[in-house]
Amino acid sequence: MPYAHDRERSLDPADWGDFRALGHRMVDDMAAWLEGLDERPVWQPMPPEVRQRLRAPVPIRADGPERAYQAFRQDVLDYPLGNAHPRFWGWVIGSGTPVGMLGQLLAGAVNTNVGGAECAAVHVEAQVLAWLKELMGFPTDAGGLLVSGASVANLTAIAVARHDRAPRVRRTGVHSLERPLTLYASTETHSSVQRALEALGLGAEALRSTPVRKDGTADVEAMRRMILADRAAGQEPFAVVGNAGTVNTGAIDDLSALADLCAAEGLWFHVDGAFGALAALSPRLRPRLRGMDRADSLAFDLHKWLSAPYGTGCVLVRDAATHREAFALTPAYLARSHGRGLSSSEVWLSDFGLELSRPFRALPVWLSLKAYGVEEFARVIEQNVAQARELGGMVEAEDTLELLAPVSLNVVCFRWSGGNDGSALDAINREILVRLQERGVAVLSSTVLEGRFALRAALVGHRTRREDLELVVREVQAEGAAIAGNRMAAA
Ligand SMILES: *Cc1c(COP(=O)(O)O)cnc(C)c1O
Repeated sequence: MPYAHDRERSLDPADWGDFRALGHRMVDDMAAWLEGLDERPVWQPMPPEVRQRLRAPVPIRADGPERAYQAFRQDVLDYPLGNAHPRFWGWVIGSGTPVGMLGQLLAGAVNTNVGGAECAAVHVEAQVLAWLKELMGFPTDAGGLLVSGASVANLTAIAVARHDRAPRVRRTGVHSLERPLTLYASTETHSSVQRALEALGLGAEALRSTPVRKDGTADVEAMRRMILADRAAGQEPFAVVGNAGTVNTGAIDDLSALADLCAAEGLWFHVDGAFGALAALSPRLRPRLRGMDRADSLAFDLHKWLSAPYGTGCVLVRDAATHREAFALTPAYLARSHGRGLSSSEVWLSDFGLELSRPFRALPVWLSLKAYGVEEFARVIEQNVAQARELGGMVEAEDTLELLAPVSLNVVCFRWSGGNDGSALDAINREILVRLQERGVAVLSSTVLEGRFALRAALVGHRTRREDLELVVREVQAEGAAIAGNRMAAA
């Protein structure tokens, strides 16, 4: 085995030629895999023997890179979540790009720890953040950070909001608060906001869920009334979270009205734009996000509608000083200010969040934005919005299908409703969902809207085509009819 050296050990290959050959083959294989996605099932269950092999004992002795790669091909590659596939529309999951994949390869090669010490990677992230601020309508001197996703972006922003309102909490903890801090967000808000409040010690009850209107957007007047009532009752309202694209239906809150409310009541205005904020890349869709540029902070994902590799989200905070004050802590072993050398960085990214060691998540994004250009990403986003409208139209055109929420962006909620037996529709649609998944035809997810089980398609992938929409509409109808027929026969 050429990978073991005789004397001093290194994990580098003994023969770089072998390494190159393996690497080239991996790139060839993955290109073929991506090229042929269409012909494979979106998803398939893992056979028991594959699961068994993934419970192997810890490998004490070397198997070598070649056999490790074969194990990947045999046990991992054929059983993906499926989100790279053109007919994966479950939850809100981006599909990634070939250039993003190569970006991860390059980032892996240099393997920089992007905590802040002076090196090109720090400037690449600063560059990506500067681009994102511009695209989102934030000032150039705003604070910002790439994080693992919108959940952590929401947590980071809400921690800054709490710090802005009650800076002493960093030292004395939440029990030193005289009055409980409360945050306002509609009932359609993503669960990561509640989890952030829990993790910050403010508690789930600090989330004051406010009603939505028929279109799924926050009822701003109801929110105002709740804020005033809570304040009168001794609570301390400190923040509002607006939604730019709710996870259930893609509804966009009236962000201008929420910004006005926050200005009038002295509250921090955070926007969760996990996927919807990216609509700002399109000049045609941007007006829908009016008011987002007035937010104190904004959370959004790059791994969803910017098709970046998984583990890439962003938080922007209008006031960089407050952002930094909420997190910065510099022990002696992290001393800076030498003015020269590696400790000379002006901005330490690790001051803006909880991660000290940080991956080079900026590189695939930087590479992709250069390679594809913002225009191309905007076209994909517009395409998904058009496809959602198209799918909504196909659903409405069929007697056996029913649209369950207005299509406001890229999310379509519908159900098969062809039978007479209304009470069975939830069960039938649940079965349709699972059958389409198990057959590898399409992955949709589900939600419950006004007590009704809904099939939910969120279009964020760049590989989806019109034929895919047509196919899924046909398959939902066929499965619905078959399941309903079986139930009748059994009854
Ligand atoms: C996906 C999503 C989140 C959570 O983002 P992660 O990247 O999964 O952490 C938060 N809010 C909304 C609206 C989302 O769609």
